Amino acid sequence: MQDILSGRRNNNIACKICTTYGRVGLTTLPKGKIMKTTQKTYGMSRRNFMTFAGGAMGFATIAATGVPIGCASSKSKVEDTSQQSGAVTPANQEGMSVNPYPVNPSRISPKSYEHKGDFTVMTVGTGCPDTIVGRSGPSTLVQYKGNYFLVDIGAGTTFRLVEAGIHLDRIKNILITHMHTDHTDGYSKFMVESWTLGRRDTDIFGVKGVNALHNIFATVFPEDIKYRLGKTATVDGMYEKVNITELEGANTFTLDGVEIRTLPTIHAVYNLAYRFDVDGNSIVVSGDTSYSENLITLSKNADILVVDSGRVVNKRYMGPGEMKPPPGGKQSGPPAAANPATYVPKEVQGKSHASLEDVAIMAAKANVKKIVLTHYPPFEVDIETTLKQYKRFYNGEVIFGQDLLEVKP
Ligand SMILES: [Zn+2]
Repeated sequence: MQDILSGRRNNNIACKICTTYGRVGLTTLPKGKIMKTTQKTYGMSRRNFMTFAGGAMGFATIAATGVPIGCASSKSKVEDTSQQSGAVTPANQEGMSVNPYPVNPSRISPKSYEHKGDFTVMTVGTGCPDTIVGRSGPSTLVQYKGNYFLVDIGAGTTFRLVEAGIHLDRIKNILITHMHTDHTDGYSKFMVESWTLGRRDTDIFGVKGVNALHNIFATVFPEDIKYRLGKTATVDGMYEKVNITELEGANTFTLDGVEIRTLPTIHAVYNLAYRFDVDGNSIVVSGDTSYSENLITLSKNADILVVDSGRVVNKRYMGPGEMKPPPGGKQSGPPAAANPATYVPKEVQGKSHASLEDVAIMAAKANVKKIVLTHYPPFEVDIETTLKQYKRFYNGEVIFGQDLLEVKP
């Protein structure tokens, strides 16, 4: 669709089913006429056409199925599937022996997630800016007796929460570590969807920028919000009853019975780590960090430190396309074989991520009981070797976070 909107005209697309050609040139017609022509030619309602052309599968469907609009085969196919579910199945997609996304999903969302205890933490998404199949964008969920504290909302967070059976409308405390897109690009989806499901009184904490992040609804999407008022009938949870607090430095406050403390760590941009204490237990979520004395201070004797993995030992690149070294040629790779007896980590202002040794030494110095690694670089992790490297510096438990893994103190 984007292709068409950006100017492609009257392309002939061969149909794999009947070997005829379909003509696709929507923007040669004004918008109203597209609908009219489509309805007349293919018998689709406007809604169904929009579903086909711009909806769930969009124009990729044509590429995936090889069945363009205008083909006799496509007529019955589109009409049949749209009547069933409103979506077109990319059947027989090349390179995909079993289609994992049928018209009707083979799995439904669990009704409710059963937490492992009163106080837990879940690595909702363990990925990075690169899109990795199986790793959602960075997000961590702390839970205390059914109250939630969602730390960062990377892309895919809402999907993961729903997949787990966690009720979106019950997540009323949001904490943002830093204003990097990979930690915030799921924000609008989560906020809108949780609001339409019933979220109302909400507290949002984060670094400078969270006000602007939330303001996109008023400045960029006011018409969308107005439209969705049809479902919510109230702006509470969107424009009202949303308390946004921008934080800096050391803070202590209480939310839903949990004491929360913050300290800044060292990252490419300003980052706050959060510590949650309740009933004698503690969980720390680092956000992104390089070696940071503040993180050691904040994590002192904590039960769990969910930590930016920085550098794990990598097996192979798993991202889309070919891995290109960034400008300067520096790329993620195995850690330096540091000698535990002589290795001295250093704070480097502006440095993005800690090395494996840095993370291990921070955990050791803080006397953390267990660390949960998250925010993996776009590689397959060599778990065995990474663990061996950690054990050279740190005697606590090392848990390799994975999407929707829940850990309790
Ligand atoms: Zn970052």
